[in-house]
Amino acid sequence: LGQRLHGALSQLSRASVIDDKASVIDALLKELCAALLESDVNVKLVSQLRAKVKAKVKKSLEEAEKAGGRELNKKNVVQKAVFDELVALVDPGTEPYKPTKGKINVLMAVGIQGAGKTTTCTKLAVHYQRRGFRTCLVCADTFRAGAFDQLKQNATKAKIPFYGSYTETDPVAIASLGVEKFRKERFDVIIVDTSGRHKQESELFEEMVAISGAVKPDMTIMVLDASIGQAAESQSRAFKDSADFGAIIVTKLDGHAKGGGAISAVAATKTPIIFLGTGEHLNDLERFAPQPFISKLLGMGDMQGLVEHMQDMARANPERQKDLAKNLQAGKFSIRDWREQLSNIMSMGSLSKIASMIPGMPAGMMDGNEEDTAAKLKRMIFITDAMRQDELDSDGMIFVAFDKAGNPIGLNRRAKRVARGSGTSIREVEELLAQARMMAGMARQAGGQNGWMTAMQKMQ
Ligand code: GDP
Ligand code: MG
Repeated sequence: LGQRLHGALSQLSRASVIDDKASVIDALLKELCAALLESDVNVKLVSQLRAKVKAKVKKSLEEAEKAGGRELNKKNVVQKAVFDELVALVDPGTEPYKPTKGKINVLMAVGIQGAGKTTTCTKLAVHYQRRGFRTCLVCADTFRAGAFDQLKQNATKAKIPFYGSYTETDPVAIASLGVEKFRKERFDVIIVDTSGRHKQESELFEEMVAISGAVKPDMTIMVLDASIGQAAESQSRAFKDSADFGAIIVTKLDGHAKGGGAISAVAATKTPIIFLGTGEHLNDLERFAPQPFISKLLGMGDMQGLVEHMQDMARANPERQKDLAKNLQAGKFSIRDWREQLSNIMSMGSLSKIASMIPGMPAGMMDGNEEDTAAKLKRMIFITDAMRQDELDSDGMIFVAFDKAGNPIGLNRRAKRVARGSGTSIREVEELLAQARMMAGMARQAGGQNGWMTAMQKMQ
């Protein structure tokens, strides 16, 4: 969402104590609601959210008072209520279809022209291909001139088999033939790209229904452009009414889009978002999950998204990432691993997007001055450059100072040496250590359960 929401929430987290005067909470809520409205969230939703948060906060405070607990942290109460309500808005509570191996999964994309269907279909194909599915693409767009060429180009670049025709003008015939062919060839995931029109014309809906009847998709996905703002609600309703879809992908969240429209669309159709499109490149697809989405929105970072991104990079560069995979599998993660990730991020492009997933990166970075982000990442790498071998191989505890009773009291002389040596500040060293520690925590969690790889596979 917009800067303003960020502002409202960081104002909330800066307020060290929120006194129980209703007026203070009211003022905060007012600012928050204004921010949500500005981010294109539907007016009705916003007033509902406001009422719910207010009721929740009131209830928590009353309960605490009854229990005699004056010490309840009111800031946390408000923050948690806001967080929970925002999560509830993007979580319709229904499970989307998940392609499984050992069967043929047909997916079909619908949406208006320019929403990002063709791009997203290719991204999806790449996504599933990386996870070991045999994927392919069918172009059933006969409306837009050059549609087949576009899909062909994308598919060729990503080395994905495709089907389409320059001469056939009946999209239903093409879709049927393509899906039939790939079914015979036992592909795991067959993705059908359809045509969009400028508006929500009735012919478009008829065409979608006809294609759907012919190819019998396991999941129909509505592709929604985040930048259409408030229109997202009516558009997704119209699609839902005529060509029922079971999942939403929101595209163009990398630009100046405000994302609130997406929230409204989910609320209006009770349909889960499965992925977010965050750029024009084929890798710019993020799995959607309500909690990380909202915590990222509130500037809390998105560790899971980051880990997934790293995992994807590992799939793309198996050689370079072999050691990392091994470490993750063992539930280990050293500063050296983090350094490796930072330099990967540097070389991957679209820096601000990835940096925004790292907790502790300044919020302004999300809005994207690539140069600033690159500079910041470089400073992080400078810090690791100033470390000794044993420090790099450590989990970071080596930099912590303890008092006589064994309680951590800050950073030690090693950390100061590193700050001096890298021309950075002790604060930045602390930031880097905190990031590495969080990554280690994620690795331990995943490694400790069924092994990292299993955990990742489960998330499909
Ligand atoms: P379609 O008409 O629905 O098939 O839309 P296209 O896939 O042709 O996409 C329309 C335009 O949006 C193209 O220029 C894409 O590169 C661009 N696009 C698609 N998805 C994204 C995204 O997530 N971010 C950005 N920045 N551009 C996107
Ligand atoms: Mg298209």
